[in-house]
Amino acid sequence: MTTRTGCGDVERLMLAGEDRELSPEERRLVEGHLHGCGRCRGYAADRAVIRKESAAIPWPALPGEVDRRTRRAVLEAGPAVLRTARARREALWGA
Ligand SMILES: [Zn+2]
Repeated sequence: MTTRTGCGDVERLMLAGEDRELSPEERRLVEGHLHGCGRCRGYAADRAVIRKESAAIPWPALPGEVDRRTRRAVLEAGPAVLRTARARREALWGA
């Protein structure tokens, strides 16, 4: 039996890849599908534009007390939470 990766599956994987690192097998599925599917290449290009433009939107400043509480909570949680947050930010925004 063979399974074929459809456009919907690839779109879901591309979106998942914005939140987490795809497995090597998932990346191969996406890249293989994109090679032969102009529709999904267009979707990937659209997502890249959306991510880039979203990243350029400045975050609103937090009220001082929220900022202080957040910083305190991050410091108390230790360095692991910073690594996780950094990895997530890089996966989302690419920097
Ligand atoms: Zn497709």
